[in-house]
Amino acid sequence: MGIAVSPQIHPQVAEFIDKPRKMLINGRWVNAASGKIFPTYNPATGEVLAQVAEGDREDIDQAVKAARNAFDSGPWRRMTASERGRLIWKLADLLEQHTEEFGYIESLDNGKPLNIAKAADVPLAVDLFRYMAGWATKIEGNTIPLSVPYTPGAKYLAYTLREPVGVVGQIIPWNFPLLMAAWKLGPALATGCTVVLKPAEQTPLSALRLGELIMEAGFPEGVVNVVPGYGETAGAALAAHPDVDKVAFTGSTEVGKLIVHAAAGNLKKVSLELGGKSPNVVFKDADLETAIPGSASAIFFNHGQCCCAGSRLYVEKSVYDQVVEGVAEAARKIKIGSGLDPETHMGPLVSEEQMNRVCGYLESGFSEGAKALVGGHKGGDRGYFVEPTVLVNTKENMKVVQEEIFGPVVVAMPFTDPEEIVPRANNSDYGLAAAVWTRDIGKAHRMAEQLRAGTVWINCYNIFDAALPFGGYKQSGWGREMGHDVLNLYTQTKAVCTRIA
Ligand code: NAP
Ligand code: MG
Repeated sequence: MGIAVSPQIHPQVAEFIDKPRKMLINGRWVNAASGKIFPTYNPATGEVLAQVAEGDREDIDQAVKAARNAFDSGPWRRMTASERGRLIWKLADLLEQHTEEFGYIESLDNGKPLNIAKAADVPLAVDLFRYMAGWATKIEGNTIPLSVPYTPGAKYLAYTLREPVGVVGQIIPWNFPLLMAAWKLGPALATGCTVVLKPAEQTPLSALRLGELIMEAGFPEGVVNVVPGYGETAGAALAAHPDVDKVAFTGSTEVGKLIVHAAAGNLKKVSLELGGKSPNVVFKDADLETAIPGSASAIFFNHGQCCCAGSRLYVEKSVYDQVVEGVAEAARKIKIGSGLDPETHMGPLVSEEQMNRVCGYLESGFSEGAKALVGGHKGGDRGYFVEPTVLVNTKENMKVVQEEIFGPVVVAMPFTDPEEIVPRANNSDYGLAAAVWTRDIGKAHRMAEQLRAGTVWINCYNIFDAALPFGGYKQSGWGREMGHDVLNLYTQTKAVCTRIA
């Protein structure tokens, strides 16, 4: 396994990580009030990558004050929608110009391959900002005809306004650090909200670099504040803050529930994008030449660290061996290594904690009788690698089948009767995504209707677009991100009623 860090780290990135990074509050880069810093690690080596200011309650409080001022009395609220849209577009342009640099930051901080970060994470974030820039000028209310039975003969002009919800706290995870920042910031800025963003402790760097581009683009001070720190301190303070109007969270279902409790104090609005255990269903009439690699990439993309990973593979019995062996063969061909190595297909998991969590699931699966057709172990002698793994001999009630593993581990199970597969696929507390592989379009769309999931992919997997809403049924979350749906999460409706006769 080639896990040596390339000597040719992008020069701007080398400079960026060379000194402790400060936090962005009210347009200025400041140290934590406590003066504390914390390390972020390179998961390919386990070595410290950079030091970052450690935000806590007091810093969150300062950032919320700045966001409140920017919302209530700053130039941001006086800007036209067109001006807001142009700023977001400018940010997209700047980000695009720095694709290489952000690719390096994501690869070093998260572990994902540089080439994938440059081909997927950064362009998706750029596209999301452009899509949202376009929405800034298209957020409209309605005119509404009134009948008011108790004022006969009176006439009214009634309309609705869509207004920004206000100061938004955004708490994001480590699996797509830049992209999750974009999913959160794009709609907040398009609708005219102001933001305090807390990136994940494991991957704070790209959000901090994005903060620099936000200031370079010309956003007024206080509109976006970035406070890195730990979830239990900075994150909890943000979720509970009485002057925050809304909190948007992506991460584990467990922490999602804590966010809901914390938000109850001032009944702030809450949107949640949580975990999943998504079923990927392959029928015998599928085009197996696309279904097999598609099913492999459904679980192994981003090392399985995707909330929508296709982690339960259900295959119709007559093609089960062929499909499962095909996915295992794809796993065998995956080259594991440092994200900076151009030969690498799969990097390390994000942290030692995550590697241990995934290995704990593997042991649990083996102790309950599951077998690894491929993989099943930690990889390498340093860094946080786990082998891509296909588990067979699995039963519905096993922990590895029920719980989100969030690593490169798929559980495979056969089914015989197409009628049985819908209840089995839906047998989960989660409902984020699902996929169906078949040539029968009637069956595909009947399945799409019956699967209880926020996204159903047919003959594809992991297709994301800024225009396509994404979010969960059941315990996978509240609300939809992206598409025009997301505007509802960042606006509220005001009804205005005028008597005109
Ligand atoms: P997590 O704890 O839910 O972290 C997500 C975000 O929430 C991070 O910014 C985290 O900060 C913050 N946070 C943690 N505790 C908080 C609290 N009490 N109040 C407010 N914010 C808080 O996720 P994790 O521990 O990194 O990963 C655990 C599992 O979560 C994974 O194995 C996976 O199953 C799931 N997960 C899901 C997604 C997704 O996209 N849906 C993403 C990541 C993880 P810190 O990072 O500083 O703790
Ligand atoms: Mg955590």
